[in-house]
Amino acid sequence: MSYLFPTYARWDVTIKEAKGSWVTDVNDIKYLDFISGIAVCNLGHANEEVTNAVQEQLTKFWHMSNLFHQPIQEEVAKLLVETSDGDAVFFCNSGAEANEAAIKLARKHTGKTKIVTFLQSFHGRTFATMSATGQEKIQQGFGPLLEKFQYLPYNNVEALDELGNDVAAIMLEVVQGEGGVIPAEKEFIQKITETCKKIGALLIIDEVQTGIGRTGKPFGYQHYKVKPDIITSAKGLGSGLPVGAMIGQKSLIKTFQAGSHGSTFGGNPIAMAAAKVTLETIFEEEFLKEVEEKSNYLIGKLNSLVGKHPLVNEVRGKGLLIGIECKEQVSQLIDQLRNHKLLVLPAGPNVIRLLPPLTVSYEEIDTAVKTIEEVFQAVDYSVGAH
Ligand code: PLP
Repeated sequence: MSYLFPTYARWDVTIKEAKGSWVTDVNDIKYLDFISGIAVCNLGHANEEVTNAVQEQLTKFWHMSNLFHQPIQEEVAKLLVETSDGDAVFFCNSGAEANEAAIKLARKHTGKTKIVTFLQSFHGRTFATMSATGQEKIQQGFGPLLEKFQYLPYNNVEALDELGNDVAAIMLEVVQGEGGVIPAEKEFIQKITETCKKIGALLIIDEVQTGIGRTGKPFGYQHYKVKPDIITSAKGLGSGLPVGAMIGQKSLIKTFQAGSHGSTFGGNPIAMAAAKVTLETIFEEEFLKEVEEKSNYLIGKLNSLVGKHPLVNEVRGKGLLIGIECKEQVSQLIDQLRNHKLLVLPAGPNVIRLLPPLTVSYEEIDTAVKTIEEVFQAVDYSVGAH
């Protein structure tokens, strides 16, 4: 019997310790972790520098109301502002909260209400972010949703032509993560930029999954020629401690005044201590260059499986957010990979999603690819046997 609401389809695995790219369960089985807490533990599990920074803050104080100045918040905000196109930061505790803040800011700033998002998107599970999420399965049973959310097909340039001047903001992920690891095409982002300008809408980029070095740049949008008005971040920002952030451009700063928005725990000093070291490490040019090199290496190896295994359709992604699209549902494959001690995730019904820590070694990448190939070979064999 469990005392928890059954909101997760949990695997029959209980982890007792985790370090770097590896986790060990209560039966002493060691798994190679290509999930990283769903793009959270970007520096691997229990990173030493982050641990030290958190421990140091724990000995000072754990929480201080946002009625006081908090220098560590300024330091983390500076790191975010200096590596993005934003000028000011609002701290919260999760991706959904960061997107909530973005939606509130966009509505208040423009005086308009309509928020345009895309089919298969994922923006969170609060009422506003669930309403923004273009997936019926996330919304079922919770209606009525918030009004004035419209979903357009992703990567469809023409569909943007139907938008008018009533739009407050267009909000998107530059790689749809939960929706199937689908990168945005350059022309699509270009057209979104033009459309926002034409209709007077703000551009919100949801970097909750793609941010903090995951794609080989500080933020995923930096692969494109685009300057978002608002960027949202969470997941990897605190290396496992709950931190969310909304980063906005200068012109938006005065729209939020004292009392416009807030969060008791937003900018908590322990979470900030973790975020500061995380950003100082990941936003180093050399670190990001290595992410890109590892990405090329891993994608190259995975691409060699296309054509070799009838099961595999396509390999796609950016940086170390990678999807292997298969010709059939992947849930059993994911179970088999786990039985072979490799932890991976689905993204939609047909895509295996790989999210290794950004600190993953080449040797660990080789191990993962070898495991994937072994599992695919066994499936090819069983398909051939029928
Ligand atoms: N936005 C994106 C792109 C996400 O991938 C997620 C979570 O998977 C969220 C928002 C919601 O984040 P959280 O679960 O921290 O609220």
